[in-house]
Amino acid sequence: MTRLILATRNAGKITELRAILADAGLPHDLVGADAYPHIPDVKETGVTFAENALLKAHALAQATGLPAVADDSGLCVDVLNGAPGIFSARWVGRHGDDKANLDLLLAQIGDIADEHRGAYFACAAALALPDGTERVVEGQLRGTLRHEPAGTGGFGYDPILQPDGETRTCAELTAAEKNAISHRGKAFRALVPVVRELLG
Ligand code: IMP
Repeated sequence: MTRLILATRNAGKITELRAILADAGLPHDLVGADAYPHIPDVKETGVTFAENALLKAHALAQATGLPAVADDSGLCVDVLNGAPGIFSARWVGRHGDDKANLDLLLAQIGDIADEHRGAYFACAAALALPDGTERVVEGQLRGTLRHEPAGTGGFGYDPILQPDGETRTCAELTAAEKNAISHRGKAFRALVPVVRELLG
């Protein structure tokens, strides 16, 4: 069984990818970055989700000698020409304040009517091998931005994105409901043939 490392310390992401690989008949030994505590932090200097996912996957593959998967994601708002995009986690200028990022975004588009409030979550997932081989796939979840946050589940911009065909926001869906339609779920599922091709 091949060991595969995922560039995250988020247990939810590890469980999600592990289940997707197992369902596809690819029961690889997937571990999180926590299993290798001395891995250096990677600066996300790319200008696209795909570039950042590849940067992280290559750094992890080089540091561990293992095939490595990394993802990078964010919210792209139509009326803001795709922003916050790669800046989603630090839209207010500093990292890690989900509530401040969401409040700023809502204020910026406060006057925009419902029909122009389209947006999507995007996720790029990259697989890199220690020999430099690389692949990257992407997934999206399209919807509309609410005027007020609703729901307590999820994280980030979940309380304001209502997926197309839904009456609830992402923060009102169960984790299983969100994983089934999410940008990350789609990108991780798109990795299945890639893992099969490169790792068997
Ligand atoms: P990361 O690449 O997974 O760290 O995500 C970067 C940022 O994008 C997060 O801090 C959130 O602001 C936003 N984001 C990415 N995925 C989601 C999601 O599924 N729901 C809500 N916000 C998300």
